[in-house]
Amino acid sequence: MAETQWIDGAARAEALRAAVGAETEDLAARYGWRPGLAVILVGEDPASEVYVRSKIEKSQAAGMVSLARRLPADATQAEVEAQIEALNADPEVHGILLQLPLPAGLDSAAALERLDPRKDVDGLTVASAGRRVSGLSAFSPCTPLGCMMLLKESVGDLTGAHAVVLGRSVLVGRPMADLLLEANCTVTIAHSRSRDLAGLCRTADILVAAVGRPGMVKGDWIKPGAAVIDVGINRVPHPDPAKAAKGRTRLVGDVDPVGADGVAGWLTPVPGGVGPMTVACLLHNTLMAAKRAHGLA
Ligand code: NDP
Repeated sequence: MAETQWIDGAARAEALRAAVGAETEDLAARYGWRPGLAVILVGEDPASEVYVRSKIEKSQAAGMVSLARRLPADATQAEVEAQIEALNADPEVHGILLQLPLPAGLDSAAALERLDPRKDVDGLTVASAGRRVSGLSAFSPCTPLGCMMLLKESVGDLTGAHAVVLGRSVLVGRPMADLLLEANCTVTIAHSRSRDLAGLCRTADILVAAVGRPGMVKGDWIKPGAAVIDVGINRVPHPDPAKAAKGRTRLVGDVDPVGADGVAGWLTPVPGGVGPMTVACLLHNTLMAAKRAHGLA
């Protein structure tokens, strides 16, 4: 049995937020301005409310200018896009995040295209994706960026490693593969139509699971010593039947942690692995956007 090193994403995220906060204070002291993040929330989706609150609180804690723009669930496409345009034009706002999903009837792709790519700190516009795959500088979506930071800090140089990414979504799988390629990995992207997923995964020095299937990656899918990043966030009934009967749930990843422990060289827990890095990377991208806007990066 290999010794598995559990990657503490919560601690790493706290350190990144602290570093962003220190640089924010330094910018404020030297130049008299602070990085500004605006979050747009349309409607009252409870999960989105939680995410937006966390983004606002953490950007404020890092000393940033933090704006929340709330629109009702029946807002029109034109109203959402006008809000984005207003924030594009606001010099105090360096990063804009449109919280997804939008309520039914609104076109999120069209709305995102209104966003100034220089303020696209979530890296989701077509311009950002196009620049990324063209090898040009662009903001990376925060979840894959957080995964890369955890990998580089744990494994070090990734050059030549075979990376398998399970999942090909625009939000996670594809940008993750781009970032691994940029780090000189040999990259395989697998998805629901791939053959012999277990065999493919067993060839991976780096395995990133982003499928949204609780515990799909078993211990015997993992090459001994591989670095395994579990992006999945799945809510399942509590294992205690009495608690499950009361509607209690718990969060699990896409990797079976019991099977993976002792096989993987490195492994991220769920919760406490990739999740906390996502908001920390949003702050990191906002700081970068602010520095670029002022010619400092
Ligand atoms: P999507 O549903 O958009 O994409 C899932 C991907 O997994 C698709 O490419 C799909 O393939 C593939 N897939 C689904 N089932 C299987 C299967 N049985 N075998 C092989 N491939 C499969 O999800 P996201 O990428 O948005 O999210 C993935 C997971 O990551 C979710 O659990 C989500 O909650 C979590 N997440 C976590 C974040 C964090 O901050 N930690 C942030 C964002 C997401 P196909 O394309 O063929 O359909």
